[in-house]
Amino acid sequence: MVRLNEIRAGEVAVDLPPATDAGLIFIGTIRTPWTDRLACPRQGRLDGPLCRLEIAEPFAPALAGLEQYAEVEVLYWLDRSRRDLVLQSPRHDGSARGAFSLRSPVRPNPIGTARARLVGIEGATVLVQGLDCLDGTPLIDLKPDRCAFTPLAPPQPGDFETGPA
Ligand code: SAM
Repeated sequence: MVRLNEIRAGEVAVDLPPATDAGLIFIGTIRTPWTDRLACPRQGRLDGPLCRLEIAEPFAPALAGLEQYAEVEVLYWLDRSRRDLVLQSPRHDGSARGAFSLRSPVRPNPIGTARARLVGIEGATVLVQGLDCLDGTPLIDLKPDRCAFTPLAPPQPGDFETGPA
């Protein structure tokens, strides 16, 4: 896993295909205490420093109801990451693992996810603990933690389908 966009022994970069516009909309900006990748936690912790999710103006009404959850899932765009390393060497020892077997920020689509503790909501700002991203990281989405969420819409057939044991 690269820390400062370097390539290490054993790592492999590929030519990326042209980007497809998936129509991603950043819904806000994440404010954290970290401005240096080397100082960031590698994974957030629920008792970590307070961080702020500043929701962009048109999306503030989308926060309605979120306050009833103690934990939320946060998705963010690790915007300062390189995206082309398919093999990475987290230990810097020449041994490498595939990007999809790591939680490295370096991946074709640098999406980060974290389960965070919801501390409060102040207007269009959500206060959370549990993040591990740089100050200014774009916010992609926010949802109730899946373990605490029960679907509100009526069931549909796929809900009851099972597969091989
Ligand atoms: N919790 C997320 C996950 O598992 O999907 C991200 C984990 S990733 C290992 C966290 C690391 O990404 C941080 O330690 C920091 O080095 C790096 N990072 C954080 N914010 C970043 C950003 N905006 N752009 C690039 N790298 C970032």
